[in-house]
Amino acid sequence: MKTLLQNKPNSYCETGNYHTFCPISCVSWLYQKIEDSFFLVIGTKTCGYFLQNALSVMIFSEPRYAMAQLEEGDISAQYNEYSELLKLCLKIKKDRHPKVIFWIGTCTTEIIKMDLESTAKKIEAEIEVPIVVANANGLDYSFTQGEDTVLASLIKKAPLRKKNYLNPTTPQLFLFGSLPNFLSTQLSLELSTQGIKVAGWLPSSKFTQLPSIAPGDFVCGVHPYLSRAASTLIRQRKCKLIIAPFPIGPDGTRAWIEKICITLGYSISGLKEREKQIWNKLVEYTNKLEGKTVFFTGDNLLEVSLARVLTSCKMKVCEIGIPYLDKRYQAGELELLEQICQEQGIRMPKIVEKPDNYNQLDRIREFQPDLVITGMALANPLEARGINTKWNVEFTFAQIHGFGNSENLLKLITRPLSRTEHLVHT
Ligand code: SF4
Repeated sequence: MKTLLQNKPNSYCETGNYHTFCPISCVSWLYQKIEDSFFLVIGTKTCGYFLQNALSVMIFSEPRYAMAQLEEGDISAQYNEYSELLKLCLKIKKDRHPKVIFWIGTCTTEIIKMDLESTAKKIEAEIEVPIVVANANGLDYSFTQGEDTVLASLIKKAPLRKKNYLNPTTPQLFLFGSLPNFLSTQLSLELSTQGIKVAGWLPSSKFTQLPSIAPGDFVCGVHPYLSRAASTLIRQRKCKLIIAPFPIGPDGTRAWIEKICITLGYSISGLKEREKQIWNKLVEYTNKLEGKTVFFTGDNLLEVSLARVLTSCKMKVCEIGIPYLDKRYQAGELELLEQICQEQGIRMPKIVEKPDNYNQLDRIREFQPDLVITGMALANPLEARGINTKWNVEFTFAQIHGFGNSENLLKLITRPLSRTEHLVHT
């Protein structure tokens, strides 16, 4: 912790005037992960337009999400929200047979103070399908934090494994964070090679298979944006949180497994060699990145982890913009970044929480970085000014976790640099 305090001057807050996706976008990956779910976003046309555009072709594949579009009468309380939502949920139950319905609250439900929780309780009893309420509004959260609020609400529905004195349960390990099934299997296998058994994942691929957690169980996150889910597990389910760097890139994956092994008292075998082997295979990419400068404008909370991988590749990070930084939940990640900076004899990069895109553009003009990792609103204008960009939303949807996806990750980052090189030489 002492070392983190030394870095305090390196992180500061701006105005929060930045581009990001609305957190309701999390329905796009969560409905695919939780196969027996249905997501109902309760909002206005604005939310509908956003979902329709941001999720593009997905909307033609009969997805298991829909909008409950609020009208003038809902906002001026002329309609009864209970009967309107009951009608919709009965229709969803009849047509799609979900085992759980998620209600996603938006800015409007927040502003007009719709009491979704108590309405959900009544409707849940009526339709006999569990309803999970999560407020993923754009007033309080950005982009990936949508998954965080959904997970925090889902955890409350996970069954409790009761301890009894005749048959005391030994603490088990649960991992949290939504990943495609094959990726969560890969990470579970990595841990099993060290002798560690993963008792379950939150979310599970089916709501009906939510793992049962007991007080004293160990939990560890796989995404840097799950601080609410982590505090729900600590405070409400009395779990022990393993604070580790996140399994992104060869360095992060090695450190993540190592931290779990140390906490659970397992000996570590062959991890350093494994990491080295992966880096050796990535020389083609790391050679391209070495010495180049990179700037993160910040929108998805993956920024510190990505900056840490790129620092390991000997890139110089000009600035890490990030919507929100929970220094306790990300402590493992920050320590690893600092350790890598110390090994290379460089300063910790500046972390700018709630950045201001206008100020950032001035700084980009000044730094002239080789690569800016940013949203689509700024990407094309920057490209037109001769600055290479990478669209940061891709890191949310691409597979970047674990040793096996390290090449995938570096490929994404080097692609814009290679494209420019190619254009220069043709
Ligand atoms: S920011 Fe608010 S109004 Fe806009 S799409 Fe998101 S929830 Fe809807």
